[in-house]
Amino acid sequence: MTYEEMLALARSKLNPRAYGRFFSAGFVSAVIEGANGKYYTGVNLDLACGLGFCAERNAASTMVTDGETAVRRIVCVGEDGQPMTPCGCCREFLLQLSPENAAAEFLVSERPLRVKRLSEFLPDPWQKENPTDGANS
Ligand SMILES: [Zn+2]
Repeated sequence: MTYEEMLALARSKLNPRAYGRFFSAGFVSAVIEGANGKYYTGVNLDLACGLGFCAERNAASTMVTDGETAVRRIVCVGEDGQPMTPCGCCREFLLQLSPENAAAEFLVSERPLRVKRLSEFLPDPWQKENPTDGANS
């Protein structure tokens, strides 16, 4: 799939709407190309009390459910259909899924078409500075 096709798929999943007073979704949409060559989609979920999560993490969760943790490319669009860059939570989340994701490409702009690697968004991950963190022994 080209970036243009990924953009079209992401835009086709936008469906901004409120599902009552405490839940809205579909204002942001993401498409992830896994290292397995499959594509995963997700939209944002915004719930009351600060719960919910971004479209990128929604798509990544589906990818992990399918047994894949490595990402090749991500396209994320906002309500206006334009590419969005990942928030800090998504940057960290994706890097922790797999160290390979440092090389994952994000579409930053459509015209001109420009991509950026996760390692450029997160140049100094804490894991590099604290290689034993997370080991319980
Ligand atoms: Zn995010």
